[in-house]
Amino acid sequence: PELTKGDGPDDSAPQGKTAGGGPLVVMENVNKHFGDLHVLRDINLTVDRGEVVVVIGPSGGGKSTLCRSINRLEPIDGGSIKVDGKELPKEGKELAKLRSDVGMVFQSFNLFAHKTILENVTLGPIKVRKQGKQESEKHAMELLDRVGIGNQAHKYPAQLSGGQQQRAAIARSLAMKPKVMLFDEPTSALDPEMVNEVLDVMTGLARDGMTMIVVTHEMGFARKAARKVVFMADGQIVEENTPDEFFTNARTDRAKDFLSKIL
Ligand code: ADP
Ligand code: MG
Repeated sequence: PELTKGDGPDDSAPQGKTAGGGPLVVMENVNKHFGDLHVLRDINLTVDRGEVVVVIGPSGGGKSTLCRSINRLEPIDGGSIKVDGKELPKEGKELAKLRSDVGMVFQSFNLFAHKTILENVTLGPIKVRKQGKQESEKHAMELLDRVGIGNQAHKYPAQLSGGQQQRAAIARSLAMKPKVMLFDEPTSALDPEMVNEVLDVMTGLARDGMTMIVVTHEMGFARKAARKVVFMADGQIVEENTPDEFFTNARTDRAKDFLSKIL
């Protein structure tokens, strides 16, 4: 028999909207300058386990710097960033290990051109995680199947479409078994017809309970998969709200102005 509303968990809601397993990423009073430019201003942001946070805002607002600071691709000047309770160490082996807890997918796919897709995915697990080759390849194939390109495993990046390359890049990040995945405008370099295949993979990850921070202007994805939207401008978090509230009822003029330009 069909369930009536309220009978159980809403299966249509991605996990990312509902999960709340305690904080996984905690940024406290984070500040960062590039010379005189104050790019991150007193950032306070908590991302819970299984939560999907979408970060949007005008170009130059500090979104990429925020992402990069979380895995210390950019050092911060002040404040603290903890992932799963631990501050990232400044350098060395410990950093490489902890950094692999934080997966990152960029606008440009950054695959190694002279390695096959399979080799791209197994490289990190073998070198950094010290996993065996066989085990790494088995896991890699599972991940490539999951992102829908298992049949492309033995090709080189240039032989794949942009959407397939970006899905390979997602598989490569997942191979490190990250606790949180950062996506920095993962679809903005793609031809329009390839955007959805990548967003679908991301929506699937969200549904499976992955903790995600996603910089994107894809409102459909934000509405469908995110539990909260963070609006960033001039290095500050200007608004933080549910997608529904944010897109229909933005509180600040800054956000309203931004939305009027992109919607
Ligand atoms: P967004 O991703 O929101 O477009 P960014 O984080 O890329 O914003 O950039 C924020 C500001 O910091 C911009 O003014 C940008 O020009 C500046 N910036 C970013 N990276 C550097 C860098 N490595 N050196 C100097 N300035 C930078
Ligand atoms: Mg950016």
